[in-house]
Amino acid sequence: MQEWQKLLSSSVVKVEDLPFIPDSEEYRERLRKVAEVFPIRINSYFLDQIKSADDPLWKQVVPTMQELDDFFDEEEQLTADPLNEEGDMPVPELVHRYPDRVLLMLNNQCPIICRFCTRKRKIGFPGIVTRETLRQGIEYIRNHPEVRDVIMSGGDPLLVPDNELDRILGDLHAIPHLEIIRIGTRVPGTLPQRITEELCAILKKYSPLFFNIHFNHPAEITPEVEKALGMLADTGIPLGSQTVLLKGVNDDSAIMKELFQKLLKNRVKPYYLFQADMTLGSNHFRTMVQKGLDIIRDLQGHTSGMGVPAFVVDTPGGGGKVRLLPDSVVEFNDKEVLLRNYDGKVYRYPQPTTDASDKIASNEDNICRMTA
Ligand SMILES: *Cc1c(COP(=O)(O)O)cnc(C)c1O
Repeated sequence: MQEWQKLLSSSVVKVEDLPFIPDSEEYRERLRKVAEVFPIRINSYFLDQIKSADDPLWKQVVPTMQELDDFFDEEEQLTADPLNEEGDMPVPELVHRYPDRVLLMLNNQCPIICRFCTRKRKIGFPGIVTRETLRQGIEYIRNHPEVRDVIMSGGDPLLVPDNELDRILGDLHAIPHLEIIRIGTRVPGTLPQRITEELCAILKKYSPLFFNIHFNHPAEITPEVEKALGMLADTGIPLGSQTVLLKGVNDDSAIMKELFQKLLKNRVKPYYLFQADMTLGSNHFRTMVQKGLDIIRDLQGHTSGMGVPAFVVDTPGGGGKVRLLPDSVVEFNDKEVLLRNYDGKVYRYPQPTTDASDKIASNEDNICRMTA
């Protein structure tokens, strides 16, 4: 067994092993009810990083009674599958929602189970994605030439053993119309020991391969994590991050700025900041949409543009991702655009006059006529 497999197999999965919870048997009994509906997993590396009850890492992985407070009602519309992924699966475990790319789920297992997971309905439960299911998914991509981009997700694709991952990546890489492969993972930040020389040697063969790594808080970026990120970057894999905006964990501009700057230092480009989904059992993590816009406004111009992710709402019911921007357009017409800059001052950008653009057009006509 490799080190990462040992860390994973000694995960906390039972209420009695949870760190920093009240001693009361009544409390524990109620948490056991929560865990029956939504399983627990904290691998022993991640457990070591939790410093106290209510710290930002603790909140992401330790269950609370609030998870059973949610129920489906017409107004809130919290559901087990808020993005209606199951509704967009032409074959099992493959979501084809956008014209040219698909999401392929390899497993139901993760290095930790996030209490706010959008796939709370299935992650951590025993069911496995069979080889046959996976074969069908890969076959679907092979038969659909419009698919030029696949995002491997789960669960966490990096919990798949080396030899199997090698085979899956090999099958995908051999599909001529598939231009890029992406891996969506939380492994580098929650079980960095999984990033081994052997794994990197496998990944290196399947360029262009991109990583989108889930990070929510600067405390996740430990020396071990920095080493893992360095190995991946040295392998030549472009690294991006995805962050979920979570009440009480990272709903604060200073925390986000620290996170994104630390990621950049480790050669990870912040890609998406997600508004929390309408997932049954995680309503208590949701913030007002304005909070995300405020964070982007506080970052834009105040730090490297490369460190500012796109703020996205994945629309309930399966409409897909929509990017939101803080208001920067004061006035917009054919003559001018008035723009608010990062420190609140308004600037005027005059549009080209209709005359000028006509002149260019007629010059082009003349050139065309001369060469025809
Ligand atoms: C997020 C997502 C993608 C990828 O979206 P990008 O904006 O290209 O990163 C693809 N399919 C599904 C179903 C998704 O949810």
